[in-house]
Amino acid sequence: MQLRPYQNDLVEQVRQAWHEGYRAPCIVLGCGGGKSCIVAEIARRTTWNGKRVLFLVHRKELVDQIVSTFIKWGVLMDLCTVGMIQTVTRRLKKLPKPALIITDENHHSLATSYKRVYERFPDVPRVGVTATPVRLNGDGLGDVNDKLIIGVSTKWLIENHFLAPYDYYAPSVADLTGIHTKAGEYVTADVENAMIKKAVFGDVISYYRRYADGKKAVCYCASIKHSEATAAAFRDAGIAAAHLDGNTPKPERSRIIADFRAGRITILCNVDLISEGFDVPDCECAILLRPTHSLTLFIQQSMRCMRYVEGKRAVILDHVGNYARHGMPDDERQWSLEKKEKRTFKKAEDEQAEKVRQCPDCYFTFSIDAAGNPHICPHCGYVFPKRERVINEETEAKLIKVEGFKLDLRTPESCSSYDELLDYARRHNYKPGWAYYRARQRGFIA
Ligand SMILES: [Zn+2]
Repeated sequence: MQLRPYQNDLVEQVRQAWHEGYRAPCIVLGCGGGKSCIVAEIARRTTWNGKRVLFLVHRKELVDQIVSTFIKWGVLMDLCTVGMIQTVTRRLKKLPKPALIITDENHHSLATSYKRVYERFPDVPRVGVTATPVRLNGDGLGDVNDKLIIGVSTKWLIENHFLAPYDYYAPSVADLTGIHTKAGEYVTADVENAMIKKAVFGDVISYYRRYADGKKAVCYCASIKHSEATAAAFRDAGIAAAHLDGNTPKPERSRIIADFRAGRITILCNVDLISEGFDVPDCECAILLRPTHSLTLFIQQSMRCMRYVEGKRAVILDHVGNYARHGMPDDERQWSLEKKEKRTFKKAEDEQAEKVRQCPDCYFTFSIDAAGNPHICPHCGYVFPKRERVINEETEAKLIKVEGFKLDLRTPESCSSYDELLDYARRHNYKPGWAYYRARQRGFIA
């Protein structure tokens, strides 16, 4: 097994950083860039030098997986402890002193438990790895890291066939206005309420059929209840679907994953089990049903379907407007170790949203910078009205941002003419007869 050149370069930069006196650099590399190979190589070199490695992961599901990667990579496991952070914290006193601490998914590392481990071995060099070196509130990782080592971008990984290209559609299916935020993230119960409605399930399924029919999909939900209900709704529609969570017994989980791999299950619903590092078989579609303020979560979840397979084009169906908060998954981002003021964090979300445009006709969502002509939808050819843009120049960013919600916030009841009902029917894949019937019922036509 060998590292790709850009991976090798990162390992070299880490070595150089230590050499220059940095104690805790953090590697930043997009999802799919092969972070686990890089840390495996660093662990291999360290253990082959007879030195001990402590490798920290943040959830128990990942331990076995990482151990098996490390064994394949040739890490000497009698010199390497792979441990879930909580377990390691409990056994801290008994733990032999490592020569190197590696932190997987380093963005978690501001948590007290990580700090306790670091403080126990203050003179031990560290290295972390993450795709998104930020906390939920947008702060950088300056508390625990002293240097960021930035790898190739997600765009580069796509262009060089390490990740599959993708199409992004963002038809909103539920009214998300009034959802509360607590401790920086949307309140689960609020989102669950908004999403567990018959009409919402109907739309989720019809958009899946329209844009990703038959494609294997991982579907991210707001809560376990919502995830189970979504899986049931897909099954009711004749599409094989299953739900997974942290409490799913191991044999059942293995069976479900095997069924998904074999294509006996098409849709795999979960809350956020299938995110960081959790190895699932290749899929071609990600369905986002959980709005999030977390850039990390957004990137991990939306990019889950982008593993490279020749000829593959991934489809991302964002039904909760996450693109409006975070931009496209492969947007270039400026990382820093600094803390950010709350206002700048909000501003950063707004700025990101300004770079994105959504077609009102087909919901195709794209980065303005990357589009050849940002005024024409690359998917359906819809021409964005220019005059309206000029008039609304100041508020344009805001409009783009809310479009995803506004457009689809319409309910049949809110339509005030036959034309609007027809348009609603078209967007929801209803038959024109439905609009005709409604229009007659409400007296719009005789
Ligand atoms: Zn379009």
